[in-house]
Amino acid sequence: AKREGRNCGQYFAPVMQVAAQERMRLITDLRAALSHQQLQLHYQPIVDLASGEVHKAEALLRWKHPERGFISPAEFIPVAESTGMIHEIGDWVFHEAARQAARWRRERPDFQVSVNVSPLQFENGRLALSAWLHHLRSLDVDGSCVVVEITEGLLMEAGPEVTRQLLRFRDAGVQVALDDFGTGYSSLAYLNRLDIDYIKIDRSFVSNLKPASPDLALCEGIAMMAHKLGLKVVAEGVETEEQRALLQAAGCDYGQGYLFSRPVPATQFDALLAHRSHE
Ligand code: C2E
Ligand code: CA
Ligand code: CA
Ligand code: CA
Repeated sequence: AKREGRNCGQYFAPVMQVAAQERMRLITDLRAALSHQQLQLHYQPIVDLASGEVHKAEALLRWKHPERGFISPAEFIPVAESTGMIHEIGDWVFHEAARQAARWRRERPDFQVSVNVSPLQFENGRLALSAWLHHLRSLDVDGSCVVVEITEGLLMEAGPEVTRQLLRFRDAGVQVALDDFGTGYSSLAYLNRLDIDYIKIDRSFVSNLKPASPDLALCEGIAMMAHKLGLKVVAEGVETEEQRALLQAAGCDYGQGYLFSRPVPATQFDALLAHRSHE
């Protein structure tokens, strides 16, 4: 047993070293990515389940690495968070998404683009709120063209500072969506206190939807509760027509997922909008 243990140690040490080196590399490359315009936003339509119309999109970050190709945000957002780069990246995301939203608003006055905001961006009042609001003014668009997506974890820890910043957003017309709903600790009391506008039901509840399934009952319950509180419901990860129909019958307002479209670059989203409005 002793020998096995030693072998184990010898085996793991180099592996961990490689992991640490890869992480260092990722950090260096991410810094370069910021200054070399390797970051892009892709947009995924959020579809009105009753009418099939598209009045909203979620902006999703993409990193086109010169050697490795596209790297998933699930891989590099945590790195950005632990190094503090999330602030600079988050600012860029907001500016870019607002710029696109302003463009789409010219033809569709109620169009909204939602952006993902990391809980860390709210820390120590570092969320560049004033700069964001200034940016909206310089684009000459209303704050209502942007929806900020936050996660339940943030609400759980919401101190007075987070609450204050969210309320300042709301004052400027920016709406708030609660992302990945159902995966964290339930914090229903916060829904009302923080004046949330949208609940996004996590993909994990949608992927196993069947008639008369427990997940369907959950979706119905969430939709009923949300509507009583004056919130709208977006179902994430809609991949099949059966899921779409069940979610609509369950009372969900909007759907998002590969059934409608994958996240696409802005120019492709233009084409998608043009195509859908001529259907
Ligand atoms: P999320 O906010 O929950 O975004 C939804 C994810 O589900 C996206 O993954 C999207 O591409 C994927 N998705 C959409 N429809 C379907 C579907 O029908 N089936 C399946 N299997 N997946 C679907 P993505 O783009 O890889 O982003 C992963 C996560 O990275 C996001 O999860 C979000 O938490 C984070 N993220 C993305 N962009 C940003 C950003 O600009 N800032 C921050 N802080 N986080 C971001
Ligand atoms: Ca999201
Ligand atoms: Ca989500
Ligand atoms: Ca998320």
